[in-house]
Amino acid sequence: MNYDYLIVGAGLFGAVFAHEATKAGKKCLVIEKRNHIAGNIYTEESHGIAVHKYGAHIFHTSDEEVWEYVTKFADFNHYVNSPVARYKDELYNLPFNMNTFAKMWNIKTPAEAKAKIAEQIAEAGITEPKNLEEQAISLAGRDVYEKLIKGYTEKQWGKSCTELPSFIIKRLPLRFVFDNNYFKDPHQGIPKEGYTAMVAKMLDGIEVLCDTEFRAYAEPLAEGGYKNAQGDTFAKLVYTGMIDEFYDYRLGELEYRSLRFETEYLPEEDNYQGNAVINYTEREVPYTRIIEHKHFTFGGGEGTYVTREYPATWQKGDEPYYPMNNDKNNELYKAYRALAEEDRDVIFGGRLGMYQYFDMDKVVRAALDTWRAEAGQ
Ligand code: FAD
Ligand code: UDP
Repeated sequence: MNYDYLIVGAGLFGAVFAHEATKAGKKCLVIEKRNHIAGNIYTEESHGIAVHKYGAHIFHTSDEEVWEYVTKFADFNHYVNSPVARYKDELYNLPFNMNTFAKMWNIKTPAEAKAKIAEQIAEAGITEPKNLEEQAISLAGRDVYEKLIKGYTEKQWGKSCTELPSFIIKRLPLRFVFDNNYFKDPHQGIPKEGYTAMVAKMLDGIEVLCDTEFRAYAEPLAEGGYKNAQGDTFAKLVYTGMIDEFYDYRLGELEYRSLRFETEYLPEEDNYQGNAVINYTEREVPYTRIIEHKHFTFGGGEGTYVTREYPATWQKGDEPYYPMNNDKNNELYKAYRALAEEDRDVIFGGRLGMYQYFDMDKVVRAALDTWRAEAGQ
């Protein structure tokens, strides 16, 4: 075998794994079907603004080792995510905190906010939440649910909140202090030079082929491993694409959720919306949020870029942005996992290979752990 690893996908998982393996003296080739590296965290510089091509990406973590790791490849700024929610003509701070409650009910103290929420929870009479709607009402009360959660969530997932699992909403913090910082993690920020530069640094000195789809590039060898048309051989595959697609959907299709991004350059505008992220929480507005990219790096550049994010039904061939981790899909994923465990030449990684709603820090952690297991460390 003239390569140790063929790594499919130049996203964050592929890049971290390739970096670690190369550092340990292994020979890696990374292939990527898109025409660029960095996967969904790809940023492109235009008019002096780093445009997040696949949606807003804010790095945040409580994992000290992961923070130490990523800061070796990029200088992070001190951006703190504080999205604003727009419901019809009303603006609210997110995550749900005293600023949100004060605006919603014209109250002033945590005791008043808690009393209001408790009153609404009691009125709803939910003891054990069975779905996202019940979970949300029993967490934040009916007003917050109806104005800030219901419309957004139903647009985002294309399903009624009564049909969605409650874990989705558990990501959303609720707090009784005047604090608009979305994330609780001690570390947060955006790479000053963009995520693409960070991933490029991870991949420095490693062979990468873009515009290269795995299926057209390599095939399994009878004796184990893979080979390409030029006769190169690879002892192992690290696959960060969809696990069900890899196995030709032989056990059935996993479900995903897609997105459509509409990006607009406004040359005459300096500050379109005054914040990096504004969520549109009413059902009637077809997009979930508008991102104004320059605010991730505190302004600068010429004009401004804004992106509207439209949730979309996923069909084969579309970008599978989100795995849909409900019970049915998780069961099917387990069956694919069992198949993968018998497959000694393939390691699955990342959001699609592991079919998990992973944030970036969890992807870095998974890649480091996968590499360590591989290296027997
Ligand atoms: P990917 O980035 O998807 O990389 C996989 C790569 O493999 C892709 O480039 C793909 O083209 C390539 N590939 C797949 N199949 C093949 C094939 N057959 N042949 C060749 N190449 C192939 N995380 C945060 O921490 N903070 C955030 O604020 C945040 N915001 C997000 C917003 C949105 C809209 C989305 C969708 C995700 C967000 N995330 C966020 C999550 C973050 O994007 C992921 O954690 C991360 O990008 C996953 O990296 P990955 O390497 O697993 O996957
Ligand atoms: N959510 C919501 N209202 C909002 C923002 C989020 O109801 O204004 C819900 C929605 O169900 C979403 C989940 O919270 O899917 C997680 O949101 P987050 O922004 O953390 O997820 P992301 O889409 O960035 O991964």
